[in-house]
Amino acid sequence: MTVFRADAVRTPAVSPRRLVLVGHPVAHSLSPIFQNAALEAAGLSVSYEAIDVEPSSVKSILESFKESGVAGNVTIPHKVAVHNACDDLTELAARVRAVNTFWVDSGRLVGDNTDVAGFTAAAAALLQNDFRSARVVILGAGGAAAAILAAVTDWPAATATVASRDFDRALALARRFPDVGRAEMDMGRALSAATLVVNATPIGQYDNAHPIDLEKVAPAAAVMDLVYRRGGTAWVKSAREKGFRAADGLEMLIEQGALSFNRWFGIQPDREVMRRSVS
Ligand code: NAP
Repeated sequence: MTVFRADAVRTPAVSPRRLVLVGHPVAHSLSPIFQNAALEAAGLSVSYEAIDVEPSSVKSILESFKESGVAGNVTIPHKVAVHNACDDLTELAARVRAVNTFWVDSGRLVGDNTDVAGFTAAAAALLQNDFRSARVVILGAGGAAAAILAAVTDWPAATATVASRDFDRALALARRFPDVGRAEMDMGRALSAATLVVNATPIGQYDNAHPIDLEKVAPAAAVMDLVYRRGGTAWVKSAREKGFRAADGLEMLIEQGALSFNRWFGIQPDREVMRRSVS
């Protein structure tokens, strides 16, 4: 496997004629709506569709994508499996150990991670310049949490505490990002110092459950939910009612998707068209 530096990444020599989102489940995803809107606005006659892939079928479907030059995105729970199956990785995807964007170049499967820059864009929109020195608490210790840690590593004076139900997993993840990351077993202590609390678990995707009781969050902190739902998540609605600055995962989703589009075609999509299509 080859790892590319960021400045060595190139768009595929032959543009993809088919785009897919690979996940399990995928029916809730808004990616097909805003990617198809952006493709149409750019005059590209390519369609983007979500396909539900069982974990046992990931390897074989990636082989078929390699043969036919299909590119796309990856969502829960396949980001690590696709990372492991790629022939080439960007430095960032290798650091996060998860791939959310892939394409085929000269017969090789290339993987990248645009969640990292997507998260930074969403944090900057929520916190303005304060994001650079944020004390971030991450709920969850999976692929999205790793992307947040990679993002925070590039912010000049920020730190990130992983507070997950599985402390050993939180500790192992934090140790991969020693410049900024630490793990905390005591949720109350973690939250008391936070300026940004991020839900990086799937809690609230299919019901109105809250990943953490908002009473435990310092009033001056902002909250961000990586989960998104049409009309907003219950946690974010409740946070806004209580006076917190709060955002759900839609802005991150649009930005990671826009960056994926740029990797596939070498042009910037119209982000406003993307936003309007899912608002
Ligand atoms: P993942 O790799 O499966 O990790 C999920 C994490 O959440 C794990 O640490 C898991 O803990 C924890 N978790 C799961 N269910 C839980 C529960 N009921 N209570 C407490 N903790 C729980 O998933 P991921 O890729 O990090 O994605 C996490 C969420 O972020 C998903 O909903 C995904 O759709 C969303 N996301 C959104 C964007 C966006 O652009 N908005 C981008 C990336 C991800 P265990 O290890 O103990 O199971």
